[in-house]
Amino acid sequence: MKTTQPKDLPENERILKNKTRWVMGIIDDAMDLSEKLGKHELTNGCLCYRCITKRKRMLYPPIKKWKYHL
Ligand SMILES: [Zn+2]
Repeated sequence: MKTTQPKDLPENERILKNKTRWVMGIIDDAMDLSEKLGKHELTNGCLCYRCITKRKRMLYPPIKKWKYHL
């Protein structure tokens, strides 16, 4: 069975794969940092998973009341 090598993929697919790997790496690093730092207050510029999530929540608050009902 022949496995697909990255060089066999079209350029845009290869870029997408690299981007995915890059993002996964960032998330991994953020998780590790979060574990290392433990519980702490939201710090500006902190790149741990907890602080990133908190900042995201502030920028994009979750929808409290849905406009439509099923
Ligand atoms: Zn943090």
